[in-house]
Amino acid sequence: MTVFRGLCIIYEVIGMLLSLSELRDRKGERSLAFSVSLESLEVLGNDYEVKEYPLATLSLSSDGRSLSLRGKVSGVFSTECARCLSVADFTVSTELSDEWLISGEGSEELEDISESGFLLDDGDTLDLAEYVKQALVEEIPLRVLCQSNCRGLCPNCGVNLNERDCVCAEPDVDPRLAVLGRLLHNKGGVENGGSEKKNI
Ligand SMILES: [Zn+2]
Ligand SMILES: [Zn+2]
Repeated sequence: MTVFRGLCIIYEVIGMLLSLSELRDRKGERSLAFSVSLESLEVLGNDYEVKEYPLATLSLSSDGRSLSLRGKVSGVFSTECARCLSVADFTVSTELSDEWLISGEGSEELEDISESGFLLDDGDTLDLAEYVKQALVEEIPLRVLCQSNCRGLCPNCGVNLNERDCVCAEPDVDPRLAVLGRLLHNKGGVENGGSEKKNI
């Protein structure tokens, strides 16, 4: 980890850009490890704070015509628990596997991959940091729980049931029935509702 961080600083400065023309000219395999300096990710309107910079380890091999990439990336993120709204940390790990054709100038293949947004400078440079970031975005869970058996909030009083029980809650009562129970209990509310209808 410490070793990687030393490397990472250098890679972050250069933005993890990989020249495809260089790969075309220098065949062979190379391994890379770098962290992606992200503070947060936004996916479908949800914000995910980055707790630990995602670390990517990649193996790239080129035969001069195509570039294949294998590797993995993992990072620790934090967001609100979907049930109790407290902070929930979670890890995202995913395998990376891809292949790009790098032969020819202005070839159809280069045109196609440039649409992915990872290629810069007219398709000659691959932005590995952006590539890895996109792989994480695709793996981010949209519903995160602080713990698998999170008890959530009491639908009546809003108490976090992981921290303490409340006096109003009967754990087995369906929340929908609890709402009905409150309505019936509050007879004044029902009558008011009736009179409001008359006013319309
Ligand atoms: Zn929770
Ligand atoms: Zn309660």
